[in-house]
Amino acid sequence: MGSTVDQPAGRPRILTGDTPTGRLHLGHYVGSLENRVRLQDEYECYFLLANMHAFTTRADKPSEIRESTLEIVRDWIAVGMDPNRSTFVLQTEVPAIAELTWFLAMLLPFNRVMRNPTLKTEIDAKDLGDTYSFGFPMYAVGQCADILAFRPQLVPVGVDQVAHIEMCREAARRFDQVYCGVDPHAEEEDYEKLGGVFPVPSALVGRVGRLVGTDGQHKMSKSLNNSVFLSDTPKQVKKKINSMYPGQSREPDQPGDPAINPVFDYLDTFCKDEALRAELRDRYTRGDNLGDGHVKAAVIDSVNELLEPMRARRAELEGPGGDDAVIDIIKAGAVKANAQAEHTLALAKDAMGLNFGDRRSMLGL
Ligand code: ATP
Ligand code: MG
Repeated sequence: MGSTVDQPAGRPRILTGDTPTGRLHLGHYVGSLENRVRLQDEYECYFLLANMHAFTTRADKPSEIRESTLEIVRDWIAVGMDPNRSTFVLQTEVPAIAELTWFLAMLLPFNRVMRNPTLKTEIDAKDLGDTYSFGFPMYAVGQCADILAFRPQLVPVGVDQVAHIEMCREAARRFDQVYCGVDPHAEEEDYEKLGGVFPVPSALVGRVGRLVGTDGQHKMSKSLNNSVFLSDTPKQVKKKINSMYPGQSREPDQPGDPAINPVFDYLDTFCKDEALRAELRDRYTRGDNLGDGHVKAAVIDSVNELLEPMRARRAELEGPGGDDAVIDIIKAGAVKANAQAEHTLALAKDAMGLNFGDRRSMLGL
């Protein structure tokens, strides 16, 4: 299988993805989706639906996870990710990822995983207390396997994921050193060339690495009820933006501070009209008869302008037959994903002395 799947001379690879714990929002767009769409032709892209990871916090809600999985595929297509040019990967249909998770778990110290700042932030923000599942911290190790199963060079993510990518880089280095004899002092970009199974991948953070939520405090997050979703109607967008607290209480003729007003973060992120942005900022700062509603209206228009073409593309996958079309895309992606992930697993097992024979025949296939 190897030589047809793995093409070192071909395009470099990307792996990234989303957990189906809800629909995608504006934070995903500026943090990662924009880069995915932009890099689709330059890179061989694998986009992961991390549905196994959704179970780490929602094991009792399988139908919600299933529905979210289909919704995320709709969101992806709405933003311009193209299943004909890229591979959509449903995590639970790619067994090599789960197997690789175990092997990598043995290479990462337990305390190193538990100290991961992203996990700590999530435990607080999602109010998981001390009753979270054993599987919850495992997802951080699983994510290393998600990535490395595709041996990518680049992982486009938001800033909250950088700590996870750092751990993934460590797992790659450690595997290559322990099982492939790569010198720990070698340059990271040389690991594959020196016989390592895994490249040491880099994170690529989007234009805005952490978009704040409509609560003005936490990062916009599908689990925190502070999101403007890519699938929101114009009316929903208006309602959410209009309900934002502008960080301060002021009258239109009183000077204000844009730096503590999250509505200005959205204006800077989504309004393409530079002159309008500068004018609103200036009038707000001086208290030149500018109400908060005025700034919000500019944000609402800009966001709707961005979402309108997405709404049109999304509509094609909604209604009768929509689910079937999405499931067909998932099935086709799983076949391509398994070819790559199985190849990686075979290389990894080979390096570990676990090459006892043909996998398909041992599985009775
Ligand atoms: P959950 O609340 O379930 O963790 P989430 O909203 O954090 O959901 P994820 O599926 O965990 O979304 O993240 C998918 C990708 O989007 C990751 O690369 C993450 O870094 C990025 N991302 C998520 N939220 C934001 C945000 N507010 N700003 C920028 N990037 C973000
Ligand atoms: Mg998250």
